[in-house]
Amino acid sequence: MPPYDAVPSLSRRALLGATATATAAATAGPGLAAALPPGALADVAQRPAGLQGALPRQVDVVVVGGGISGLVAAREVAARGRSVLLVEARDRVGGRVLNHRLEAGGVIEAGGAFVGPTQDHITRLAKELGVATFLEHNTGSNVYVSSLTGRTEFTGTVPPDPTILVDAAVLLGLIDRYAAEIDVEAPWDHPRAREWDGTSLGEFIRRSSLNAAGVTNLIKSWTQPGFGADPDELSFLFTLWYVACSGNERNVGTFSRNSDTANGAQERRFVGGSQLIPLRLAKRLGEVVALRAPVRRIEQKDDRVLVQTGRGTVRARRVVVAAPPPLVLDIDWFPRLPVRRTQLLRSMDMGRLMKCDAVYDKPFWRDAGLTGFGINDSGAARAVFDNSPRDGSPGVLLAFVGGSTWREYGVLPRAKRRKAVLEGFAAMFGERALRPIEYTEQDWTQERWTRGGPTAFHAPGTLVDHGPAIRRPFGRVHWAGTETSTYWSGYMDGAVRAGKRAAVEVLERL
Ligand SMILES: Cc1cc2nc3c(=O)[nH]c(=O)nc-3n(C[C@H](O)[C@H](O)[C@H](O)COP(=O)(O)OP(=O)(O)OC[C@H]3O[C@@H](n4cnc5c(N)ncnc54)[C@H](O)[C@@H]3O)c2cc1C
Repeated sequence: MPPYDAVPSLSRRALLGATATATAAATAGPGLAAALPPGALADVAQRPAGLQGALPRQVDVVVVGGGISGLVAAREVAARGRSVLLVEARDRVGGRVLNHRLEAGGVIEAGGAFVGPTQDHITRLAKELGVATFLEHNTGSNVYVSSLTGRTEFTGTVPPDPTILVDAAVLLGLIDRYAAEIDVEAPWDHPRAREWDGTSLGEFIRRSSLNAAGVTNLIKSWTQPGFGADPDELSFLFTLWYVACSGNERNVGTFSRNSDTANGAQERRFVGGSQLIPLRLAKRLGEVVALRAPVRRIEQKDDRVLVQTGRGTVRARRVVVAAPPPLVLDIDWFPRLPVRRTQLLRSMDMGRLMKCDAVYDKPFWRDAGLTGFGINDSGAARAVFDNSPRDGSPGVLLAFVGGSTWREYGVLPRAKRRKAVLEGFAAMFGERALRPIEYTEQDWTQERWTRGGPTAFHAPGTLVDHGPAIRRPFGRVHWAGTETSTYWSGYMDGAVRAGKRAAVEVLERL
C-alpha cells in the first residue's frame, strides 16, 4: 500500500454521486415550451418530428443516434455545408436525456439532469439554445441514515459517522492524488495502469481502509448513481480516469467536482428540463433528423458506406456512430468490426440505474431546514436529492436506485418498490414522505435503445487491454457518444465534446 496523503477536507457531498416519461416540445423552438399549458409539453413531444417519408439516397455523412452527441455531430457537419442525415431508432430525440411532465405540473428529468462547473460545452450549448439553468436547492442540513447510528442531520461535511470518517478521507485523498496523474486521453499509459486496472475500486477500498465494509457502503452512494454499479464492479483505473475527467483543459478533475452539489457536477439543473436541449437541436436541424430509423447494418465498400435502417438504406462517404457502446454490437457490420473494438464494446457494460420520484404539494422538508439531500446505508433510497422544479412547486424527492440496490429493488413489482422508496424518504424526512400526491419511476435497464445507465463502465482488467481502441476510426466509420469523451465522459458535457470531435474527424476527411 502506498503512503497516505494528507487527509483532505471533505465537502458535504464529497462522498456522494451524481446524479422521470414524456418530454418537452419536440417541435417547440426557444420560448414556445414555456408558453405551453400544463400537459401540452408531453403531447408535443410525442409528435413525430424531422424528416417524413423516404430517406435521401445519398449524403456526405450519416450520424447514427439522436442523443446529444449525435445531434451535435450532425449540427457541426451541417454548419460546414456538408449534407448530413441523422438516423435515430426511437420516435424521439435525446436518448438518455428525457423530460417528464408531472401531473401536478412542472417538468423533471427521467435521465441526465445536473450540470456543474467545467462542463462548459453543455452549458454553452444550452445558453445558445435559450435553455436557462437554476441552482439545485442546497440550503439547510442533509440527512444521513445509518443502520448502526440511526438518523443524523449534518451540514457541510461528510456524514458524522466516526466509524468511517477517517477511512473515507484517506480514500478520497488517494483517489484525487492518483487521478491527477492520469492522462485523460490515455489512462492506460500510466506506469501503474495495469496494476490499477487489475483491481476493483472495492478491492482497493478493502486494502486501504480499517472499516472497509463501512466505507464501501458509503461509497456505494456515489457509485450507484454515478455508474449504476457497485465498487466491486468498477476497475480502479477506470474510476481514477473518471475522476480525472471531471474537469477541463484548465482544471484538473477532482472527486469533489464530480460528486458535489456546490461547485460540483450536481450544482445546477435546466429550467424546463434538460431534454429541451436535444429537442431544440433537432428542431433547428429539421429534416436532417429521421426518427424511427434504427440502423441494422453498416456495410463499407470501397469509397462509400451503406447504412441500412428501418426506413431504407442511405449511402454516405463517412459515418458517425453515436449509440451507447453495447448497442453498437447489435448492428450487423460488414466487414466485421475489428476484434479489438468488439472486445472493447463487450467490456463496456451499461450500469443498472433507475430514478424514482415522489411528488408532494410542496417541498415540505425545506420548512424543516433540510436540503432534501440524504444518504442511507441500506434500503431502496440510498442517494436522495431534492428534484423539485425551479419554483419549488410541486416538491419532488428523487432516489437513485442503482447497482446492487437496483438488483434488489429494481426487480420488484412497482408497488413494492414504491413502498420501499417512500419508506426510505420517510426515514430521512418524516412520515409525510409516505403520502405523495404522485409517484413516477424510470428504469433505464428496460430501455431497448439504451439498456442501462447512466453510462457504460469498465470492469476490472478491461481498460488497459481494450481502452486504446475507443476513438480509433474503423475505415470510414467514426465514434462519438459520451463514452468516447476525454472530459466528463458519461455526462451530457462529454456527449457534446464527443460529437464535436467526431465531426471534426469526418470533416477533415471528406
Ligand atoms: C438516470 C440517468 C441519470 C443521469 N444523470 C446525469 C446528470 O445528472 N448529468 C449528466 O451530465 N449526465 C447524466 N446522465 C448521463 C447523460 O444522460 C448521458 O451521458 C448523455 O445523455 C449521453 O448522450 P449520448 O448522445 O452520448 O448517448 P445517448 O443519449 O444514449 O444517445 C444515443 C442514441 O442512439 C440511439 N440508438 C441506439 N442504437 C441505435 C441504432 N442502432 N440506430 C439508430 N439509433 C440508435 C438511441 O436511441 C439514442 O437516442 C444520466 C443518465 C441517466 C440514464
